[in-house]
Amino acid sequence: MGRPGVDLAYLVAAVAFILALKGLSSPRSARRGNLIGAAGAVLATVVVLTTEHLAHLPEILAVMVLGGGVGVLAARRVAMTAMPQLVALFNGVGGGAAALVAVLEFTGRGHQPLGTGAATVFAIVVGSVSFSGSALTFAKLQELMTTRPVVLPAGRWVSVGTAVAVLVAAAWLAATGGGSPATLVLVVLAVLALIFGVLFVLPVGGADVPIVISLLNAFTGLSVAASGYLLGNVLLIVAGTLVGASGTILTRLMAQAMGRPLTSTLFGAFQARDATAVTAGAADRPVRTGSPEDVAIMLGYARKVVLVPGYGLAVAQGQHALRELAELLVDRGVAVEYGIHPVAGRMPGHMNVLLAEANVPYDQLKEMDQANSEMSSTDVALVVGANDVVNPAARTSPGSPIYGMPILNVDQAQSIVFLKRSMRPGFAGIDNELLFDPKTTMLFGDAKDSLTKVVAAVKGL
Ligand code: NDP
Repeated sequence: MGRPGVDLAYLVAAVAFILALKGLSSPRSARRGNLIGAAGAVLATVVVLTTEHLAHLPEILAVMVLGGGVGVLAARRVAMTAMPQLVALFNGVGGGAAALVAVLEFTGRGHQPLGTGAATVFAIVVGSVSFSGSALTFAKLQELMTTRPVVLPAGRWVSVGTAVAVLVAAAWLAATGGGSPATLVLVVLAVLALIFGVLFVLPVGGADVPIVISLLNAFTGLSVAASGYLLGNVLLIVAGTLVGASGTILTRLMAQAMGRPLTSTLFGAFQARDATAVTAGAADRPVRTGSPEDVAIMLGYARKVVLVPGYGLAVAQGQHALRELAELLVDRGVAVEYGIHPVAGRMPGHMNVLLAEANVPYDQLKEMDQANSEMSSTDVALVVGANDVVNPAARTSPGSPIYGMPILNVDQAQSIVFLKRSMRPGFAGIDNELLFDPKTTMLFGDAKDSLTKVVAAVKGL
């Protein structure tokens, strides 16, 4: 294939990436969008493998088969609830790869002009931050470490010091453009950038981790674009820029959904927030518990019920039982709606996907603002495996890590029922005063079991 053929193939692949993003903007077209994007990536890979006269083709193919196999296995086996950590891991590997490409280009090419040198150190720094930061978000979401913000002694100054050192080393490398002492500085730069990635993510905790994943995703895109510039590959520049731009937009949207500026997400922990303030005194307080029959009576004789699904519904795989309960109530003349919080579950749109799988009609799903506008006229809010997204501390406790996040105001309903297994907190690790509210009834147990029992009890009314 000649150069024009290669360029045409890259153009087709670039258009495929853009169409993929367009498709991913709606659940109905997401699958098609994903396939179009994958087809573009396959086309680009085939073009590179067949036209670039690669020196180590057998080794490259072997590594591709190995990496592809691991990727396919991981993607097939991962539980829906663990998808964000998988995305974090894949994203981090992309950033790491872009950084490695840049390291090899820097050490292999000899002296470089300022522009190329700057692009190289940019790819190394941003790719390394993305790699180590993503690895840490994986550890947080997988609960291999605490999900709470971790603030090291003098953490802010250690971070600032590391950032300054990274900038100095990067500027020196870009300005000198290589040569033998540069290799040592390059190693120091890469190590410092890896450390900075860890320091960057450590103070981000609880509910804010997904926002950082999205931001690191944008970082990876930018480092890939920079490595595309080094390699003279237009498609890498286009693809990297698309990822950078869409990751940045998603980060902003997620920060908005959490009701806080991005700076507060990233640096809020340094402002000495007292995450334990809400926890104090929560143990050993009385709560009102009910049986499945009690809950069935409350729901079966209500005029209006709002169902609020959360992460626990996904864990319990109780979506079919929830739909069955909703149908039974509708048959009894109860007005039923689902209140969907934008960050309920563990990934954007998680509840929509979960309920769509159980064939819940789209028109019964109400977005947060709409559900809230009708909350005070609701008889029962049934909260199924949700916690943070209904925690009034977000409105009332300035010391709380979720303060400022818009929530579903189920506390405004006439009565509230929580289906969960215990009094344990949700993802943000903070207690929920609403569990102790006199108008709250707790039905303890696995959400699917509890729903099945409530369904049987409603049938018996
Ligand atoms: P939470 O994590 O706040 O609460 C879930 C609750 O479900 C827990 O309190 C748990 O209580 C209960 N639960 C767990 N398993 C079961 C089960 N089998 N049966 C019944 N209950 C169960 O979830 P929310 O959906 O309310 O909030 C989402 C949180 O996750 C927010 O903090 C959000 O910021 C964060 N997040 C969101 C992401 C997104 O993009 N959507 C991504 C990553 C994090 P118990 O143990 O007592 O059963």
